[in-house]
Amino acid sequence: MLTKIIYVIVDCFAIISLIFTVRALTRLGSQACLCLKKAMISAIVAIIANICVALSVNRLSAEIAYCAYFATIDWILFYLGGFCVLYTEHEHSYHNLKISFGFAMGVDSLSILLNPFFHHSFYIYETTDKTGSIFYQTGFYPAYYMHLAVDYIILLVAVSYIIYRIATMYGFYRTKYVIIISVLAFIVILNIAYMALKMVLDASVVFYAVGGVLIYISINVFVPRSLMISSIGRAVDGMTEGLILLDIANNYIYSNSFVKEHFGIDAETFNIDKEPVATVMRALEDDGSSIGETVYIKHSEDGNQKKDRHYRIKYNEIQEKKNRIIGSYFLIEDTTEEVFFLNEIRQAQIAADKANEAKSTFLANMSHEIRTPLNSVLGLNEMILRSTTDPKLREYAEGIKTSSDILLSLINDVLDFSKIEARKMDVAIAPYNPHDLLRECYFCFEQMAQKKDLYIKIECEESMPSMLSGDYKLINQVLSNIVSNAIKYTSEGGVTIKMSFKDALIISVKDTGMGIKEDDIPLLFDAFKRVNEKQNASIQGTGLGLAITKELVDLMKGTIDIESELGKGSVFSVHLPQVVKDSRAIGPFSKQSSKSSEIYHESFKAPEAKILLVDDVPMNLMVVEGLLRPTEVKVDKASGGDEAIELCKSVRYDLILLDHRMPDKDGVETFNIIKEEGQNTDTPVIMLTANALNGVEEEYKNIGFADYLSKPTKPADLEAALVKHLPSEKVIKM
Ligand code: ADP
Repeated sequence: MLTKIIYVIVDCFAIISLIFTVRALTRLGSQACLCLKKAMISAIVAIIANICVALSVNRLSAEIAYCAYFATIDWILFYLGGFCVLYTEHEHSYHNLKISFGFAMGVDSLSILLNPFFHHSFYIYETTDKTGSIFYQTGFYPAYYMHLAVDYIILLVAVSYIIYRIATMYGFYRTKYVIIISVLAFIVILNIAYMALKMVLDASVVFYAVGGVLIYISINVFVPRSLMISSIGRAVDGMTEGLILLDIANNYIYSNSFVKEHFGIDAETFNIDKEPVATVMRALEDDGSSIGETVYIKHSEDGNQKKDRHYRIKYNEIQEKKNRIIGSYFLIEDTTEEVFFLNEIRQAQIAADKANEAKSTFLANMSHEIRTPLNSVLGLNEMILRSTTDPKLREYAEGIKTSSDILLSLINDVLDFSKIEARKMDVAIAPYNPHDLLRECYFCFEQMAQKKDLYIKIECEESMPSMLSGDYKLINQVLSNIVSNAIKYTSEGGVTIKMSFKDALIISVKDTGMGIKEDDIPLLFDAFKRVNEKQNASIQGTGLGLAITKELVDLMKGTIDIESELGKGSVFSVHLPQVVKDSRAIGPFSKQSSKSSEIYHESFKAPEAKILLVDDVPMNLMVVEGLLRPTEVKVDKASGGDEAIELCKSVRYDLILLDHRMPDKDGVETFNIIKEEGQNTDTPVIMLTANALNGVEEEYKNIGFADYLSKPTKPADLEAALVKHLPSEKVIKM
């Protein structure tokens, strides 16, 4: 009885393991796995039949159970064979063999199942074991050996496919086939043993179950794992980075070829004091952490040439699933080339910075050097204009003024462009009245238009906000560039300036001029690019205006569009995002009467005031003195810093106008001394210089200068600065 109970328990365990295998195989879903699954299901049925054999109460029930058992073994082998054919990638053969073997198996199963009627295959006889339990065993007729022959043929076919694969495959693939063939051999041996030993109960079916599980493990766990380990191993070994794995006690586990090649480290030579391990260990200690990055330089010499190699080493700990530390790894990157290129880039950057600096210095010098004589030209010319009413002379002087203005605007353009290129142009946001923009533009270009007999029409949307916030100076520059072009390139008709507001400030400038070819429009914003050069040869220009305009519009995050028709005219529209400061309607636009008067009149008189004028260029002293003559201000002149300091010791001035670039002591040094000693420590000092680079005004004011005027100085600006800084009781406004 005990034998039977043990037998049933073993069978039950086999069934459970088979159920799990079947479930796992269901998830895999390949055709081979499907076959294996069917074999395992047949094995479950066979084991149940086997249990029935063990529990049989009479011969008939034992015979029926044996029939079921023998018949299902047919199908186990049939599907196992199918699995072997499919798993060895012989799908075509599988489909051919399936029909013939299926038929043979069907006939064989039927023959077995008919045994209770014909008793042609096997017979049942009773035996008892030592404990007296009754067992039903089988004796075989020749027909049974036919059944066995069919089973063995199928096994033979399966085995031959696998042997073929073992012969043609290599590595892990061969191993997996070896496992399968071993399992099959195991089953065959047990079958033979059962028959030879005449065991009371057939336990071989349990080994079908074990065999199935083994095959499953072989194809799904062993092979993929081994493959993974092997391929990862190879990939890691061939990495362009080094890898060192250590266990929790810093014992060597693994390092790849890179580490051997670069540092001579492998399982035999590894030592915790060997570089770069020692450097990493020190870094770990310094950081007090197990994660980080460090650099390592391997110094070596090739002949007399230094050949350092640079490495970046990342170190980290290895954690298992439950976040427990099980070791650490170092990842070593060869950064020699990166360091080399970074160095090159740094050198190039330094060279570029130097070149840029040289360019800026050159520009500053050039601007300064041109502005200085231009200051004299404009100043002296202004004095001619003020002192003569002779129409011929005035005409000549006006000509000098126009040309000088063009020269000045050219210098300003070049300076602006270099400022934009050097990204030194800032946007200064402040509230402004949009009508002021239109007015300033109108008065600026009124004369230019009149001279060409052109009209300037201004249309401003009355409902637009009365106060906006933005960079007035930059917008004014954009508008001036476009309007001056419109007048320059128009010979008949005129220019219409429209302003409105819809989410952004919209200014459009329409002219009735020569227009621009469609193909040329995209080229207009290129620096130094002039289009239609033949026709425009007589028109002054550098091709910088629109490039600067575009940059300025971009700087203000706006857009500029051009529509043009050759021979009919152009419309330039700019959209500039602006903050609305006062949304009340601005109302109708009105031009105030023109400020520019033909004959000059001083804006104030200050006969009581005394000022000091310091400049190393006598012509400049003469110009400013001449410009201020109508104001009756008393002017002392000094041709350098030392002379100015001497004068300041004995005379108290109401205002000092100081040049910057002077030989010996420059303007700033002179300023510092005047502020420390003598009579004028609290006298306002105005910097009057040809240095017009961006940001200098701010710099001078930070030093302590009361104001800044750039040369060539506009007479009106000069007078305005004096009114602002002279003691008010000494100024009589006109
Ligand atoms: P510049 O006027 O100094 O040559 P710009 O950059 O201001 O340089 O203009 C580039 C070119 O675009 C000019 O040379 C001219 O051919 C063309 N252009 C600009 N504005 C107009 C316009 N309103 N009508 C016709 N052509 C224009």
